[in-house]
Amino acid sequence: KKAQIGVTGLAVMGANLARNFARKGYTVALHNRSVARTDALLAEHGHEGSFVRTESLEELVGALESPRRILVMVKAGGPVDAVIEALVPLLDPGDIVIDGGNSYFQDTRRREAALAAVGLHFVGVGVSGGEEGALLGPSIMPGGPQESYASLGPMLESIAARAEDGAPCCAWIGPDGAGHFVKMVHNGIEYADMQVIGEAHELLRSVAGLEPGEQAEVFRQWNTGELASYLIEITAEVLGQVDARTGKPLIDVIVDAAGQKGTGTWTVQEALALGSPVTGIAESVFARALSSAEPAMRAQAQRLLPAGVGATTEDVVGDAGFVEDVRQALYASKLVAYAQGLDMLTLAGAEYGWELDLAAIASLWRQGCIIRAQLLETIMEAYAGESAPANLLFAPAVTTALEAALPAWRRVVARAVERGIPAPVFSSTLAYYDSLRRPRLNAALTQGLRDYFGAHTYRRVDDASAGAYHTLWSGDRSEVIA
Ligand code: NDP
Repeated sequence: KKAQIGVTGLAVMGANLARNFARKGYTVALHNRSVARTDALLAEHGHEGSFVRTESLEELVGALESPRRILVMVKAGGPVDAVIEALVPLLDPGDIVIDGGNSYFQDTRRREAALAAVGLHFVGVGVSGGEEGALLGPSIMPGGPQESYASLGPMLESIAARAEDGAPCCAWIGPDGAGHFVKMVHNGIEYADMQVIGEAHELLRSVAGLEPGEQAEVFRQWNTGELASYLIEITAEVLGQVDARTGKPLIDVIVDAAGQKGTGTWTVQEALALGSPVTGIAESVFARALSSAEPAMRAQAQRLLPAGVGATTEDVVGDAGFVEDVRQALYASKLVAYAQGLDMLTLAGAEYGWELDLAAIASLWRQGCIIRAQLLETIMEAYAGESAPANLLFAPAVTTALEAALPAWRRVVARAVERGIPAPVFSSTLAYYDSLRRPRLNAALTQGLRDYFGAHTYRRVDDASAGAYHTLWSGDRSEVIA
């Protein structure tokens, strides 16, 4: 019997996706560069379903029904190109090559164009949920040619996570690199989500005096309301953990230097290229960098830099009102960070010619992935109607939620600043919110200065034709039309 799908690259992600397909009743052809890995998988899990063992790409291709579907799960970067190059001569027009790794979306665009030129479908798929998700149901973001989704979509949907309403967390995102792009922004939002939780944690400790164990209870409580999400749930677990060696909260023996694998950086680099103001995501990436990049400089700063904090604020230890303020600030900042990420998708859609369906994207983040959260139902509803809001913040339910949270949000940011406690995403998302809603921005002065030193011109508020004006700064200071 021919296999319906082949998987090449059987490290943890590939192996778990292959098992997931097999458990759903598909016959899966297996291949890995080193055959030992294929045999290890078969020895341990061969009984879970129908697998075909192959030792070479030729054998893999020969084992598949037509049109072939081959999922490439090798190391991102050069190895993906190497495998594609080896596969292409073995394939027939209409066959589908799927890259389910963490590939950079520009690589996916390039690969899709190259394979399209020889009649092959190349589908870049964002897969979120890690090792466990790959086996039990990830959130799946497939891009690539829409025709290929007819043949591939049902298979991907069958292995995807399910939302509470039973819908699979998998939907065609858009052409070429759209799937990997959306996965990248998902990861950027994940950075912001984790950072706002971290800021709340720090304020609860330093201002409200709550020990990690007590905070675990607070987060458990928060997880029953509008903040309900996987990350809040596991925050309670991590904060509640006691270190066996010292008896201290585990959090207190973990070095405060955050790592990263680069997808947050990609998101911010691309946001800069698009001119997309994802301040919450950017501050989150920078916060990780600041924590870890130059430990010696941080040590020096602790000795040399004064706090300049006066006794300006009253003590709020044990103040339930402050804890509630922090909860509201966390929710509001999170809403803005999501709004910024979704706005980046809108800008990218226009730039790359993708018609991204934000309701569908929110729907497939509801389960399986790291940012799964109650909030995604709200976001889905915001974009579900006939006329989608230009920004998530304009959806009536979201505007109302922000209005309710704003006084608390401002109090929390003000107190953090007064106390010298960094809360970069709480404050930058608030600045974004205020910048959006202010009728006039200091950009007018920026334009004046640019015109002064570089004759870059400015537009006038009283000229609807948007003509370019210049003041003769070094002359008689009269105004000319440029
Ligand atoms: P790795 O990224 O560790 O890659 C190892 C696999 O790649 C092995 O099968 C290895 O074969 C193969 N490989 C490496 N170089 C080559 C090459 N030149 N030619 C052929 N095969 C090669 O595997 P993971 O399972 O950890 O990750 C796979 C993909 O999934 C990556 O893109 C990764 O970023 C992504 N990922 C996604 C996660 C998520 O949550 N979505 C989590 C983790 C990873 P061999 O056994 O012969 O060495």
